[in-house]
Amino acid sequence: MNILTVLSKASADSIEQFFQLAKDLGVDSMSFTRLVPTGNAERQTSNDTQTLLGNDLKRAFQRILIASSEYSIPTNTNAPLWTIFDQALGGIPFNFADGIVIDYQGNLMATSRSRYKIGSVKSNSLRNLFLKNSLLNDIRSGNIHGCKSCTKFNKCGGDRNIAWAMTGDFLEKDPGCWIDLEVKKIEKRRHIV
Ligand code: SF4
Repeated sequence: MNILTVLSKASADSIEQFFQLAKDLGVDSMSFTRLVPTGNAERQTSNDTQTLLGNDLKRAFQRILIASSEYSIPTNTNAPLWTIFDQALGGIPFNFADGIVIDYQGNLMATSRSRYKIGSVKSNSLRNLFLKNSLLNDIRSGNIHGCKSCTKFNKCGGDRNIAWAMTGDFLEKDPGCWIDLEVKKIEKRRHIV
């Protein structure tokens, strides 16, 4: 058995308690998935206030890694941004653009977690919609603003659903990424010296 919990500002307060619960229950893993402010999450949070960003997200990830080690319970690190800590962590970016999601009305969706419709498979060829759509092709080829020169890109690429939910553009940089913050901190230190 595994536990998967949404990681938000609210649940981040209880990371260690989640691992304690997982230990008490004897589960195989305790994992977290970042809150994507769409659907019910969008209605409940109104303006992204529950989505962890920047240093808050970094601290939450660090606590998850520490708790996973202390409680000897594995956690899933096969997702964007984890590779910032260690190149052994992270996943294959954009592989969701290889999956097909069709809603109950016959619309091909960009992802299962967005409401972005690519087109109707009732009036278009699925092959054409899926393989020739410029957005899906941009995602597949990693044409992400602000990420292409990043050394972490091949195991990160940022979360496309969160980018879409918070900026309205699938191709924007993940708003949760703290890389720029660290570069700015180093530049500020250099400036002071
Ligand atoms: S800049 Fe982009 S690829 Fe690099 S760590 Fe941030 S989100 Fe990931």
